[in-house]
Amino acid sequence: MIFEEQAVGMQAEISGKKPIRSLEDALDHCQCLGMRLSKQRRFVLELLWQAQEHLSAREIYNRLNQQGKDIGHTSVYQNLEALSAQGVIECVERSDGRLYGNISDPHSHVNCLDTHQILDVHVELPEEVIQQIEQQTGVKISHYTIDFLAIDRPKP
Ligand SMILES: [Zn+2]
Repeated sequence: MIFEEQAVGMQAEISGKKPIRSLEDALDHCQCLGMRLSKQRRFVLELLWQAQEHLSAREIYNRLNQQGKDIGHTSVYQNLEALSAQGVIECVERSDGRLYGNISDPHSHVNCLDTHQILDVHVELPEEVIQQIEQQTGVKISHYTIDFLAIDRPKP
């Protein structure tokens, strides 16, 4: 497995002190931010917490419609934008578009090059490694995300 460290992009600042770890936390977080919790906004959050995957807006729309939820395309897009801008959900920029996930605090990804699946992992680097990078670059590391590139494990 190869890995490369990536600088965290313009991630919306997470205003809550503790990370969002459940659908309930996400709903509470919205309320703390003064975000309106419409039926549609709840649908989107519920789906992301059920799926625990990284999905495109189109996939999210399709799945909600399969579940018989009354929500339009535009509403799905607008809610995803609002939720990711506020740091309630994750937005991953891919060359072929944006993907949304339920974990919003900094975390790492295992990207499978064969299946295109992205798995969330929380990785903590040893303190020495962080210090080494800080010494090499002269900056203070505040947080980090690692992109692991992986291949599908051959089935025995
Ligand atoms: Zn993720």
